[in-house]
Amino acid sequence: MIVTRRPLIAGNWKMNGLSGDGLALAGELARRIEDAADPAFDLLICPPFTLISRIGEALAGSAIALGGQDCHAVETGAHTGDISAAMLADSGCTHVIVGHSERRADHAETDTQVSAKVAAVRSAGLVAVLCIGETEAQRDAGETNAVVARQLADSLPDGATAMNTVIAYEPVWAIGTGRTPSVAEVEAVHALIRGDLAKRLGDDEAARLRLLYGGSVKPDNARELMSLTDVDGALVGGASLKADDFWSIAQSSA
Ligand code: PEP
Repeated sequence: MIVTRRPLIAGNWKMNGLSGDGLALAGELARRIEDAADPAFDLLICPPFTLISRIGEALAGSAIALGGQDCHAVETGAHTGDISAAMLADSGCTHVIVGHSERRADHAETDTQVSAKVAAVRSAGLVAVLCIGETEAQRDAGETNAVVARQLADSLPDGATAMNTVIAYEPVWAIGTGRTPSVAEVEAVHALIRGDLAKRLGDDEAARLRLLYGGSVKPDNARELMSLTDVDGALVGGASLKADDFWSIAQSSA
């Protein structure tokens, strides 16, 4: 089966953006995508929770999708400070990043907890952008493939489809460091992920599901990374905060 996967370029703003700069950045991207008329990629931005509703209003009618950066595993209840997937859906989100390495490290999130969050995202009718990737120590120990395979097995619950799931391979040591794996390494890990998905979901569904690469994607390396067979877009941190850089990365994927 020959499948064409439309690239997805997702911006993870992390804990950046007050209303002035956040709304300006979203507005600029909305203007560019409208001018592009028929872009050959999908754009997703994931601002901090505080800006989601206002950016959602500003993006009304735009082709840019809106996502959260995390959610709680249950829908409502006594969880002070947390946000549920249903609340994100209610605020205009269509996607939620789950299992980002900064959540796994800063909040000790386990694969089991991440899996429960992915299930919650699905129950709310949203798309989970599930992040997996090895640390530098695991890479140095030659454990990359084993770690990625284990995280995929343990943090992706059954029932994944290309409509409810995107996988982002993000080597932890590449995030925010300016370092990236070689294209051969990215290619190999993405092929491994696609192969594991094929075993679980069947060849056709696995072939449709988008696999993003994340970790120091910049305008100057995006074209090479996005040209790889099993790379269907990027999860972008730092460079998603600058309209020119994010837009340039998106154009490189088309
Ligand atoms: C990220 O945080 O998901 C990320 C990929 O960050 P950066 O692009 O800054 O490396």
